[in-house]
Order: sequence, then C-alpha cells, then structure tokens
Amino acid sequence: MLGKIKSNLYSAALLLGKIKYNNRNSKVLYYHDVHKDKDVPETMMSTPLSLFTEHIRIIRQQGFEIVDVITQPKNQIMLTFDDGYIGIFKNKDFFFNQGLKPTVFIISNCIGTNTFMNANEIIFLQNKGFRFQSHTHTHPDLNLLSESEMKTEMITSKKILENFVNEPINEICFPKGLFNKLVLVTANEYGYDKLYSSIPGSFNEQNPFDIINRNLVQFSSIFDFNCILYGGLNIFRERYTKQHYHEE
Ligand SMILES: [Zn+2]
Repeated sequence: MLGKIKSNLYSAALLLGKIKYNNRNSKVLYYHDVHKDKDVPETMMSTPLSLFTEHIRIIRQQGFEIVDVITQPKNQIMLTFDDGYIGIFKNKDFFFNQGLKPTVFIISNCIGTNTFMNANEIIFLQNKGFRFQSHTHTHPDLNLLSESEMKTEMITSKKILENFVNEPINEICFPKGLFNKLVLVTANEYGYDKLYSSIPGSFNEQNPFDIINRNLVQFSSIFDFNCILYGGLNIFRERYTKQHYHEE
C-alpha cells in the first residue's frame, strides 16, 4: 500500500517535471543489467527484458534516435550500463537484434568474477560495437578516499582496461554517482575527460561540475519512462545533486 502511494507520488512528480522542463534534448540513460523475465537476475538492479524492450520501443516511437555517442543537442538517446554484469552478455542477441551498442562502465577488479563479464566476453561485445569505459578498480565511495587512493583506483582501472579494450579509456563513471571536488580534479589529472555521475538532466545541459548528466530508468514504468524522456527527472535535480556531490 505504502509502496503504491510512493510510486504514484513519484510518477506525479515526474509528470510535473515533464510539463515544466518539456524538451527533446539528447539524454544519457542508465541501467545496471538486463535479464529474461523467467530468469533469476544477477543483481537486484537488473531490468526485466520485457520492460527494457518497452523502453526501446518508446524511445523510437517518440522519434528519438538511439546512438552509441551523442553528437546532436536534440533527439538522441545514449544507453549506459554500470558495473559490467554478465546479463548483458547473456542477452547479447537482444542488443544485436535491436542494433543497440551501449556504453558499459566496468569495475576492473570484478572482471571475470561470479556475476560479471570476463575479458573475452567484453572483447566479443566490443567487436560488435559496444563501448567499455571505467567505473574505477574496486567501486569504492570515492568521497572517502585520500588523493593517492583515488589515483590508484583511476590509474589501475585505466591500465587494466586499456590492456585488452581496443580504445582509449578516458571516460569514468563514479561508483554510486558519488563525487567531490578532489574526485573531479584527480579524474581529469589521470586521463579522464568525460565524467559521469547520477545527476539527471540533458546531455548538453551545464551543471556546475562539468560532468555528464544521466537519468536512471532501470525500473521506470512506461508512464515514468515517457516523462523522463522529456526531462521529467529534472524535478529531482537538486535532491540528486545533494545526494551525490559532497563538499570536502
Ligand atoms: Zn556501480
């Protein structure tokens, strides 16, 4: 009952956001994993394939183009997945059939461990056009690390990925979206020029941190997803910023 009320309030807020910010700006969406509805998901954050299919259908039906990298201020959607779960590889045919080439942010220390993709699987998908970038080495809360620990996380992850991923690793997604000023400076200093967190909004929309906005949609209903495509999550922007950006 309480859950139902909460989800109705959330949908109402998204609708308000859609009305207030109504735009067709290009946006980055993010997920964690996908699984066939009958299968047990690898992670609680996984999206059932039936729901993911609906998302892809709505994006296209609304006239947005799904791209691997955003090049236009409007009408493009980029899909990203955090952590590198094996469900993506298990359901690779869905991605191929739909022509989807998402960017996956990899925790380098987890490659090949129980629920995560191994190096061969990553290479296979990369050869099909998937993009792989850094999600740090061990997925820590970067806000709790010293500068040298941060540096180790960023350098190690870059080195490991560049060893077998055939593209420069210059994009990083902060674990749980958490960051502070030192995280931003350190990431820039150690070779990352595209930084992703979990602050919602459009791709070209400035935020004070020079990071790329991302919109969480992994459990969005069809109604919620439609609102988010048009900027609905902006209504929570201040709250998400407070949650993810920590002053030192
Ligand atoms: Zn993560």
